[in-house]
Amino acid sequence: AAIVEIRAVNKEYALGKQSVIALRNISLMIDKGEFMALAGPSGSGKSTLLNLIGCIDTPTSGSILIQGQDISGKTADELADLRLKTLGFVFQTFNLLPVLSAWENVEYPLLQRRDMEKKTRQERVRHYLNIVGLERYTHHRPNELSGGQRQRVAIARALATHPGIVLADEPTANLDHKTGEGILKLMKALNQEEGTTFIFSTHDAQVMEMADRVIKLADGQIIE
Ligand code: ADP
Ligand code: ADP
Repeated sequence: AAIVEIRAVNKEYALGKQSVIALRNISLMIDKGEFMALAGPSGSGKSTLLNLIGCIDTPTSGSILIQGQDISGKTADELADLRLKTLGFVFQTFNLLPVLSAWENVEYPLLQRRDMEKKTRQERVRHYLNIVGLERYTHHRPNELSGGQRQRVAIARALATHPGIVLADEPTANLDHKTGEGILKLMKALNQEEGTTFIFSTHDAQVMEMADRVIKLADGQIIE
């Protein structure tokens, strides 16, 4: 069954009196458990599409369904709830909070779950820091970690909430080739072991090869 369905989506950004068309008539079904890459040159619309699926922005026309539900009818509170419970985000700039340790960064989104007990929360944080191989770095702040380690904190943080879908915008862009490959292998292992759906953008051909399916964008359109 489709976990994400995109129906005839267009996205236009207003820039003063001008406008930029970022996505043109995109339709796409993404199945539960897929490990899918969005490829295409810079400016082709990859981030825009990830932001729309992530409910960070809304389409100009068309609709997006997440787990069968059209998100256009939802209130801001309902969208925030959906983001918290269903979606995990990994960005190329890691987006970690600099004053918090690795442990606290992973714990942060779990603290918004009012119904989660402290013990469960701590087990989750420990489990995901272990999975990404950072059990010895729990007290380190982002500036005390390497780029690859920071991205692993970001992945642990994205997965700790048990999202059905992880959206990763160029997760390897700021990493050297070998580290990037390690991050992708880790994402793939989590996809296979936990069944989490991954949608990630990349312009690295070797990263694309690890995907189950590659959707190529150019000029806001799916070309392949
Ligand atoms: P990619 O992620 O493939 O590099 P983007 O989705 O970032 O592509 O951008 C697609 C197009 O939309 C580009 O022409 C870009 O300049 C434009 N764009 C992206 N974000 C904005 C924005 N916030 N305001 C105006 N134009 C934007
Ligand atoms: P050790 O230093 O003993 O190898 P850790 O530092 O990984 O082990 O964590 C010890 C315990 O402290 C963990 O079980 C966890 O509950 C807690 N913990 C670790 N880091 C933090 C933190 N920054 N804030 C709150 N609790 C933490």
